[in-house]
Amino acid sequence: MSTEPGLEQERPPSTLHRRTLWSVLLLLLAAMLAMLVWLAGVYETAQVQGRLERDAEQTVGDVQAAFTRNVQSLQALQYSDPTPNSWNIDAAAMLREHRELVRVEWRDNVLQVKTQVDSPFRMPVFDHIGRANAQSEVFLACTTARRFSGPAYSSSYFVPFADGLGVQVLELCLPLQSAGQPAGYLVATYALQEVLDALPEHPTVRNNEIAFTEGDGTRLAMRRSKRSGSHVFTTQQLVDLPGTSLVLRMDSWRGSPDLFPNVLTALVTAMSIALVSVLVLLAKDMRRRFKAEHDLADALAFRKAMEDSLVTGLRARDLQGRITYVNPAFCQMVGFPEEELLGHSIPAPYWPPEFVDEYQQRQMIRLAGNSPPREGYESVFMRKDGSRFPVLIIEAPLINAQGVQTGWMSAFLDISEQRRVEALSRTSQERLQATARLATVGEMASLLSHELNQPLAAISSYATGSLNLLADGPDAAKEFGVDLTLAMQRIAEQAERAGKVIKSVHDFVRRRDTLREAVAPQELLEAILPLINLQARQLAVVVQTEVAPDVPCVVCDRTMVEQVLLNLARNAMQSMDQPHFLERVLRISVRRVHGEGRKQWLEFSVADMGGGITPDVQLQLFNPFFTTKAEGMGLGLSLCRTVVEQHGGALVFKPNVPQGTVFVFTLPIRAVA
Ligand code: ADP
Repeated sequence: MSTEPGLEQERPPSTLHRRTLWSVLLLLLAAMLAMLVWLAGVYETAQVQGRLERDAEQTVGDVQAAFTRNVQSLQALQYSDPTPNSWNIDAAAMLREHRELVRVEWRDNVLQVKTQVDSPFRMPVFDHIGRANAQSEVFLACTTARRFSGPAYSSSYFVPFADGLGVQVLELCLPLQSAGQPAGYLVATYALQEVLDALPEHPTVRNNEIAFTEGDGTRLAMRRSKRSGSHVFTTQQLVDLPGTSLVLRMDSWRGSPDLFPNVLTALVTAMSIALVSVLVLLAKDMRRRFKAEHDLADALAFRKAMEDSLVTGLRARDLQGRITYVNPAFCQMVGFPEEELLGHSIPAPYWPPEFVDEYQQRQMIRLAGNSPPREGYESVFMRKDGSRFPVLIIEAPLINAQGVQTGWMSAFLDISEQRRVEALSRTSQERLQATARLATVGEMASLLSHELNQPLAAISSYATGSLNLLADGPDAAKEFGVDLTLAMQRIAEQAERAGKVIKSVHDFVRRRDTLREAVAPQELLEAILPLINLQARQLAVVVQTEVAPDVPCVVCDRTMVEQVLLNLARNAMQSMDQPHFLERVLRISVRRVHGEGRKQWLEFSVADMGGGITPDVQLQLFNPFFTTKAEGMGLGLSLCRTVVEQHGGALVFKPNVPQGTVFVFTLPIRAVA
């Protein structure tokens, strides 16, 4: 990632948008998870609270049941119409069984104590304050009891002991009847602490803290339990008793593990953790994707820039020949916009109408699966304005990522400029050739004048003779037996001979169009022989020509090839122009040779018996302007080689036997396209 400061602003809007979405998603998810955990906690608390309330209700039930049972036990004391003594025994027995009762009294109708028994488990409760000081509660309870005609309870009150401690007690007054008449009261004093302690030992009671409280929450009596945590759940329930009501408070202590005590909370938490992990993984994956996307966009931009900068036209076609892709260079080349080309099938709009059949055939071959030549092929396309231009096409199969061919990819080079330069160089080459030919003729001027001299001298002498005869009169000729007609014929013959010499020079010099045509080798030789002979006569060279009988015509630019033969023949004759070369033979021969494969060549050789070529001359032989002759131009051999190579052949040289040099060049029998 780049740390350049300005880069953040340059992010595309889609990235910002995506980031915002992600942030919102994360926030929502975090809020949802927090809410889930909170709800689970609330649910959990509600569950615990509910359970506690049920427990408290049960405990209240237990307390009330215990009070009711005790009322029955107290009533049982009176069943057998007891005497105070027997009553005392039964009451003491009862107190032994019920620790919560601290005292039982049998009182008469005016609430005077007939007899009373204290609990054997503790010191008599009222010893310190005196029973008379607690009469008001008893009185109230008994008044209520009489009104109800059933048991009634007083409100609870505190009885202090001598040691500063004390006990919270509650009076129960049970009215007695005998034969439908009031027969006194049974008053039982409960110690509230013992009421709690006497509760049946089940888990609810064991695990929770239970207390009787005042309306303001002051605890009157409390049964402790083991505190197992720092969180407390509390509930308060009323214990309704006839004449009064007690408030029972139950506290349940829970530890911190109770924050997630049940499966639901744990499940929600686990799911939240899993969700967050998945989200983190997803975010990582997304980041990888963004990076890949970014890289891909970079690669695409790079490819696009590359395509746009290309001068080579590119075009892709599917296997049905429809155009699936073109680059800007191709559109520029053919002058059609991309929209007009894409999806276009054959014939393509840039095919010149005159070539449609030929190109269609080529396409058929290509679509049949035949690979085009690797080095490409040339073709002609048409621009939108109708102008034609040559192109070089290189095609290759288009293979997709699965390795299946889906079409063809072609690269196009507009070769009009190349063609123009080639034409230009050809023209200058031709001009050079023509100049060289003129130079040759210039060099041959003295030979020409000598050659023309002979017929002209002959004409002149025939004419002088004839004139002399005519001056002597018409009979003089007869007299000397000379036929003037014959003289005239000789004059005509010599004039014709001179004319031929001039024509041969004219033919050679005349610039012709560079047209390739089928020419018999014999014709080539005959065209230059008069010129060769001019020099041969002067240098006393014997010219021998030998054309093998089976040689076929060769397709060539005859002017050029004549020039090559003439140059080689002249060089050969000049190499023998030394006084010590007595045997001066120039041998020009033509034969057919077989090359590699089935290729056939015509081989022209020009052999001399001159001084040969020294090694240092050999190195520079074909360099333009290299010459060893005082009047030479040094262009001959370099032009010869260019011409031969343009025809697809080769020009070499080798020593001749017994002496001299042989220059050999080949021309293919089939023309090179
Ligand atoms: P030029 O004839 O004007 O010198 P060329 O290119 O025809 O130019 O020949 C270059 C040189 O090659 C000649 O000057 C000569 O030295 C050498 N040369 C060409 N042909 C022969 C030959 N048949 N025998 C010996 N030397 C030759």
